[in-house]
Order: sequence, then C-alpha cells, then structure tokens
Amino acid sequence: MINKFSVKSEFDSKILLHACCAPCALSPVPEFAAAGLAFDAFFYNPNIYDAAEHDKRLAEVKKIAGIFGFELFIRNDEYSKFLEFVSGLENEPEGAARCAKCIEMRLAAAFEFASAGGYKYVATTLSTSPHKNVKLINSLGAALSEKHGGLVKLIEFDFKKNDGYKNSVDYCKKYSIYRQTYCGCHFSKR
Ligand code: SF4
Repeated sequence: MINKFSVKSEFDSKILLHACCAPCALSPVPEFAAAGLAFDAFFYNPNIYDAAEHDKRLAEVKKIAGIFGFELFIRNDEYSKFLEFVSGLENEPEGAARCAKCIEMRLAAAFEFASAGGYKYVATTLSTSPHKNVKLINSLGAALSEKHGGLVKLIEFDFKKNDGYKNSVDYCKKYSIYRQTYCGCHFSKR
C-alpha cells in the first residue's frame, strides 16, 4: 500500500482520481500536486441525496479543481440508479453490504472511464474517510482490474494515513470548503 507520493517514476500514465467530495479529495490532491504526479479527477456519486446536496458537493470539487489546477470529469446519474443498485440492502447498517455495493458502483464507473480514456491507474478519495473500509475498497479494485483485463489498476493508497485525514480538515478550513455531516444517501441521514 502506497502512502508516499514522491514516487513519480512508479506511474507511467496519468492517474484517474475518483473524487467522492472535496473534503476527502483534500488529502491526496495537495500531495499529488506537490509531488508532481499527473492526474485528472472524476466525479461520479449518484448516491448523494438530495440533488441540491449533490450539486453543492460537486461545486466544492470544482472549486478545488480551480485552486489546484487539475482537470475534472463529471458523470451524472439519477439517485434512482443508486437506489436500484442497492435494492434489498436498504436496512443494512452503514459500513456493511449496502456501502460495499455503493462503492462498487462508483469504482466501476471510474474504471470504465479510465479504460475508455487510456488511463492505467485509478485511485479513490474514499480512503480518506475513517468510516470507509480500505480492504474492501482494494478488493473491489482488484476485481474490477481483473474485469478490465489488468489494463487498469487501483492504486492502493490509504489517504487517511500519514495525517491525511487531519490535513484534509486543515485544507477545508484554509479554503473554506463545505464539509458535509452525513455520508451521502438518505439512509445515512437516519
Ligand atoms: S452510507 Fe455512504 S457509502 Fe454507504 S450506501 Fe450510503 S452513501 Fe453509499
């Protein structure tokens, strides 16, 4: 698992960074920028309830794209698509089977985008959150990589480590970034 970013030579193509929100992105983005890593970001989070909240979080990601100068690609789907994907898992507690499907849905979209765009590496800001299971993220990434014939790989960053989470909170203060109080779906507001 990689936690240092001064390893430019390890990556022979741009990284596609799946961004779940600006606060989580503010662990890797300043580090990537400082290390001179080439990356673009991809926002695909149809799990966010409601539409106004989705757009608010997206606006914050656009804001940090402007600050740090990275390219941001956006894919939108209706919230109903997320609901279909997690159908039958509505009553699961946070961190359990519904969340695994939710993460899979978003990572799968990032892998598809990466594959179509010629990226060899995907990373996700989801690992910044202390509430997300990095082992699960990595195992989903390995399965998706296999599905794509090994041509796209998930880089197993754990962005909360090495003060990554703390730094993200500090950057939010510095740039006045909105920090949401629930994960995303309406179940997580319960
Ligand atoms: S709690 Fe978060 S990760 Fe879990 S299903 Fe809801 S939005 Fe997705």
